[in-house]
Amino acid sequence: MKFVQLLICLVFIALLIWMRQISGVEAAYGGLSWTGWLSILLALAALGLIVVVNDSSRAFGFFSTWDKQAAPQVAVRTLSDLELADLGTLKYRGPKYPHPVIFPERCIGCQACVDACPHDVLAIVDGVASAVAPDLCMEDTACQAECPVNPKACIVINTTKAVVSRPSPTRDGASYQTNVPGCYIIGDVSGVPLIKNAVKEGAEVIAHIAAELKTASAEPKADYDVAIIGIGPGGASAAATAHNLRLRYIGIEQDRTLSTIELYPKGKYIFFKPDTKDWFGGIPATGLGLSKAKYGASGAGADESIFGNELALEFEKVAREQSVPLQEELIPKIPGALRGELAPLLAEKIEKELISSIAGFLRSKGSGDWMNLYTKHFVSDRDNILSRFRAAIADQLQTKIPGDQRENILGVWLSGLAENGVKINEYESCKTIARADDGDYFVIGTERILEKSQQTYKARRVVIAIGLRGAPNKLRLPNEDLKFRINGNEESKVLYSLTNPADYRGRRIVVVGGGNVAVEAAVDLVSTRSGAEISPRSPKEMNDVTLLVRDFLAPTVKFGNKFQLYQCADDGILNLRFGVAIKEMRENELVLQDVETGRDLETIPNDYVFALIGGERPDRFLQSIGITIT
Ligand SMILES: Cc1cc2nc3c(=O)[nH]c(=O)nc-3n(C[C@H](O)[C@H](O)[C@H](O)COP(=O)(O)OP(=O)(O)OC[C@H]3O[C@@H](n4cnc5c(N)ncnc54)[C@H](O)[C@@H]3O)c2cc1C
Ligand code: SF4
Ligand code: SF4
Repeated sequence: MKFVQLLICLVFIALLIWMRQISGVEAAYGGLSWTGWLSILLALAALGLIVVVNDSSRAFGFFSTWDKQAAPQVAVRTLSDLELADLGTLKYRGPKYPHPVIFPERCIGCQACVDACPHDVLAIVDGVASAVAPDLCMEDTACQAECPVNPKACIVINTTKAVVSRPSPTRDGASYQTNVPGCYIIGDVSGVPLIKNAVKEGAEVIAHIAAELKTASAEPKADYDVAIIGIGPGGASAAATAHNLRLRYIGIEQDRTLSTIELYPKGKYIFFKPDTKDWFGGIPATGLGLSKAKYGASGAGADESIFGNELALEFEKVAREQSVPLQEELIPKIPGALRGELAPLLAEKIEKELISSIAGFLRSKGSGDWMNLYTKHFVSDRDNILSRFRAAIADQLQTKIPGDQRENILGVWLSGLAENGVKINEYESCKTIARADDGDYFVIGTERILEKSQQTYKARRVVIAIGLRGAPNKLRLPNEDLKFRINGNEESKVLYSLTNPADYRGRRIVVVGGGNVAVEAAVDLVSTRSGAEISPRSPKEMNDVTLLVRDFLAPTVKFGNKFQLYQCADDGILNLRFGVAIKEMRENELVLQDVETGRDLETIPNDYVFALIGGERPDRFLQSIGITIT
C-alpha cells in the first residue's frame, strides 16, 4: 500500500469517528446520520475525480512523449503518380501487404533482384523480372537495393522499411580517383552495375589520367602510363581510349576479354540503360541495334501509305539519295569483319528513318492535301531540313541504341578491339597492387594462369575495372589446370561457370558446391525448364551428374532450388552426395573421399568438373590496396 493510500484511509476513519460524535440527535444508519453518509459520498466522489484527472494527465503525457521518442512516424512506401503512370495505370490494384512491384519498361533482366531475394518472390519471365510469389515477401528490400537501373525497376511497396544500399569504394565522383592517389576505380565495382555507365567511365577516366600525366613530372622507373585491371565493358573502353590517345598501357584480364558478357545466357537481349543517357565511350555502339525485332527497322514509316503513292515514291527517292552520305559516315565505324553483314541492315534502317522523318515533318504542318504541304513546306527549305534530319539520324544510330543481342554485341566489340589493335593480356590475374616507395608509380603483381608464372609491371596510374564477380574460388587440387581430349579437342577439365547447359549432352559431370549457383547448374544439366517447372531431359540429351556438397547446402539456397534439386534426386536423374569431396583428379576419372574421415570412397568415371564454390569478394582485394569501402 502506498503512503498516500494509507493516509486517505486514516483520514476516513477519523472522519467517521468525528461524524459519529457530532451527530448525536439525528437518526443513525449503520452508525452515521444521513448527512454523514452524504458527506462521505461527496468527499469520495471529489477524491475519485482528482485521482482520475491526475492519472489521465500522467498517462496522456507518457504516451505523447513515448510516441515522439520511441516510434517516429515513418511513411508507408506507396507508388507515386509518376510511377503509376509508368505502369500505365491510375490506381495500383495489387495486394495491400509489402511486396515488390516491377516496372517492365525499366527492367534489363539482369537477375540481380532474383538473386538477392531469399524467399523466391521474384523470377525472370520473358526476359524481365516478375513478382511470381508476392505473398512470400518478407520486406527486407534487398531486391530494390540490388536493382541497378535508375530509376529502380524493382520497388518494394506497402512497407515502412528503408532500403539499405550496398557499401561501395571511396572515390571522387568527377575523376574516379580512390582515396589512394593515382589509383582509379570504374564500372560495376564502384557501385553502378550498368554497361553504358561502365563504358562511359572507362573513356572518362583515361581522358582524365592523360590530362593529369601531361602536367606530372616524368617517372623513368615506370614502364607504362596506365595499367587497366579487368577487361569487361569498362576496362575495354578504358583500354581502347588509352590506345587511341597513344598512352603506354597494359590491360590485364583474368579470363577472356568481355567474359562477363560471354557468360550471359545465349541469345540474351542486352539493354543499354538508362535511355536518358547517350552512348559514350571507347567501344562504339555503331552497327548495333539493327535487328528488326527490337529496334524498329520494320516499324519506321509504317503508316506512310496515307500520303498516297506519288508522294510515297518521292519519299523513297529522297531517302535513297540522302542515305548515301549517312552510310559513308557510319559504315566505316562498323568493324570490317562485320561490315558485309551489317551494312545492308544499316542502309535499310537509315532509309526508313529518313522516310519517317519527312512524314513526321509533313504531319506537323497540317493534313489533307499532302502534295501541296510537301511543296510548300518541304521543297522550299529542302536542304536545311534534310541536313537536320541527317544529323539527328546519325546521332541516333551512334548514341541512342536501346540494346542488342549478346552475340551481336560480342561480335561488334571484340572485332572492333582486335581491328584497332587494342592489346589485352588475357588469362592473367592481378594479385597485388602497391604504391612504390621510390617514385610516383605502382607495382602490379600478376599471375599468368595458363603458364602459372608470376609477372610484375610498373605503371604510373592504375584503373581498377574488376566488376563484382571477383576471382572464382579454386578446388586446390594439384593438377586443377588439367586438360583432356574430348571429340578431338583439348579442353579444360575444371570449369568455374556454366554458361549454356545445352552445350553438355551425354557427359559425365561432377558439380562441386552447395550454393544456389551449384544447385541450379546441377539441375540444369539433367533437366529442362519451362517457367518454374522442370522436366527430365530426354535420354539423348541427358548427362550423368553428381553434385558434391562438402557439408550442407548453404542457408541462402532458395526454397525453389532445393525443391527442384530433391525432385531430380528422387527421380533418380541426379546423384546428390553430402560430406564428399574430390581427392584426386585424373584425365577420365575422379577419386572421391569422405570429408570428415579422409577415407577414399570410390573412383568414378568423369569428363568435366564444375567448381561452383563462390569467389573471392572484390572488397578484400580493394582493401589490400588501401581503398576504403563505405
Ligand atoms: C545476367 C546478367 C545480365 C545483365 N544484363 C545487363 C543488361 O542488359 N544491361 C546492362 O547495362 N547491364 C547488364 N548487366 C550488368 C553488366 O554486366 C555490368 O554492368 C557490366 O558488365 C559492368 O562492366 P565492368 O567492366 O564494370 O565489369 P565486368 O563486366 O564485371 O568486368 C570485370 C572484368 O574484370 C575481370 N577481373 C576481375 N578480377 C580480376 C583480377 N584480379 N585480375 C584481372 N581481371 C580481373 C573479370 O574477369 C571481368 O572480365 C547484367 C549482368 C548480369 C549478370
Ligand atoms: S528481396 Fe525481400 S523485399 Fe524483395 S521480394 Fe524478396 S523478400 Fe520481398
Ligand atoms: S534487378 Fe532490376 S533490372 Fe535487374 S532484373 Fe531485377 S528489376 Fe530488372
